[in-house]
Amino acid sequence: MDFTLKTYRQLLESLSLGAYSFQPFAEFIENPEEKAIVLRHDVDERPQNALKMAQLESELGIRATYYFRIAKISNNPKIIKQIVDLGHEIGYHYEDYSSCNGNINKAIKQFKENLAYFRTYYPVKTVCMHGSSMSDFDNRMIWKFHSLSDFGIIGEPYISIDYSKVFYLTDTGRRWDGNKYSVRDFVNNSFQLSFHRTSDIIKVLQSKRLPDQLIIQSHTLWTDSVKEWYWLEFREKLRNNIKIIIIKMPWIKKFAYKLIQFYSK
Ligand SMILES: [Zn+2]
Repeated sequence: MDFTLKTYRQLLESLSLGAYSFQPFAEFIENPEEKAIVLRHDVDERPQNALKMAQLESELGIRATYYFRIAKISNNPKIIKQIVDLGHEIGYHYEDYSSCNGNINKAIKQFKENLAYFRTYYPVKTVCMHGSSMSDFDNRMIWKFHSLSDFGIIGEPYISIDYSKVFYLTDTGRRWDGNKYSVRDFVNNSFQLSFHRTSDIIKVLQSKRLPDQLIIQSHTLWTDSVKEWYWLEFREKLRNNIKIIIIKMPWIKKFAYKLIQFYSK
């Protein structure tokens, strides 16, 4: 079984042997080490799983970055505080442009308010867009009207990084090579490396063939609960198929987006 906490521990332990520094995203922007790994987590949902991952990282002396959404499905104050106390970085996983249906003034106002909210827990310096794959609106649109520094932000993973130098890995679609299921969560990588399972990454790590700077984005779907694991496996497979259908038949998208908004409330 892949994508369990047990597998996540194995991945972290292998990464730890590779002489990399683990840097939270803000630190990587301000002072990147030559050999560095940024562990980025988009907490789209299941904050309780985020906490388990954060505890595991902390146990291994690793600091990561957790991006929380404002939606209740992600935004759990008690868990945010616990993750801050473990020494991790907190950022805002913004989706204001899509949740305001493309109304830019409303979206900017809402972005400011939500950022201020997350700053009551942590001095947030970085933000990261939520893909909102079923929405017509790309949340990065607000950067056409503002710069990050207008909000005291120093980094946004989809804007601030040169991915010809930094290798990006994401578990979108519950696999490491799910690019075809990523509607917006992708970057133009120039590395000729591809992995399917976590064990494939570990093998390459052992042979020291991974690039020097990495950003590893993992969602909070890693679990040791067998029931939850099978449910997520089924759901993600279904979701991947829906995404493929939507790419071919975009008119279904509106209906699917309404369903997701309902599920996320
Ligand atoms: Zn997201």
